[in-house]
Amino acid sequence: MSSGPPAGRKCAAGCEKSFFNGKYFTSMDEKISQIKTFYEAAFRKFDPAKTVPEIDVCFYPYIGINHTIRVRDGVVFVRLAELCDAMPESGHRALAEILVAKLLRKKVPALARETYSRFVKQTEIRERAVENKRNFGRKIVTAARGEFFDLDEIFEKLNAVYFRKSLPKPVLSWSARKTYRILGHHDGTHETIVVSRSLDDRSVPEYVVEYIVYHEMLHIFHPTVHHNGRRSIHTPEFRRSERRFADYEKAERWIEQNIKHIKRRAKKTNGQS
Ligand SMILES: [Zn+2]
Repeated sequence: MSSGPPAGRKCAAGCEKSFFNGKYFTSMDEKISQIKTFYEAAFRKFDPAKTVPEIDVCFYPYIGINHTIRVRDGVVFVRLAELCDAMPESGHRALAEILVAKLLRKKVPALARETYSRFVKQTEIRERAVENKRNFGRKIVTAARGEFFDLDEIFEKLNAVYFRKSLPKPVLSWSARKTYRILGHHDGTHETIVVSRSLDDRSVPEYVVEYIVYHEMLHIFHPTVHHNGRRSIHTPEFRRSERRFADYEKAERWIEQNIKHIKRRAKKTNGQS
């Protein structure tokens, strides 16, 4: 497996597109490399004769508990619902067996199925509780329109100011959960920009949300470059464009100074330890 660009510059597992800024995600990198080994083990288990393929794991802010596994150009892409990022090791091991068995059309081991469904039930109960709390007495929010910020509006504005309205409009959505490691995400395959719900808050300045959306829009503007078989996501041109954002310094500083609060608030709402 290739060593890839320095950790944190992109989704740890080399997933298609960006996670926001590398500096906030080191612990995620470690978690993902560990989860990757479970998938390698599952491939060895179900198909011992074959060499283990290259595996690319990432968490994706799916709403609800959905996971996908697919093969593209010989690489196995695993996308795990962000809701399961707190799943214990045993759960991830079981899920790896389930997804790999399905991919290879093998029988899913009963023990894996049991272990995993036990975890899912717990998560669903917890999520429902959070969801209920969230909806109580609140105005209706859609995927793009949050309580405080409307991502569609922000996109239109930025597209006019920075891109001469040239960017095709992707699907814009707030994440299901208040993520704090991942503030923004662009998925080129599904043309989607997801922004962390933790930023849909009265305490967050609009230029910060705009900055995150702008960063993700740059991923549409500067497609991923392949160089010597490596994917280069935040190229020097990308970084140059990034600095053209009017409130670049201010937004960076705000995030730096407030990431701890965002984290604390997110943990509280998400009901994690
Ligand atoms: Zn990025």
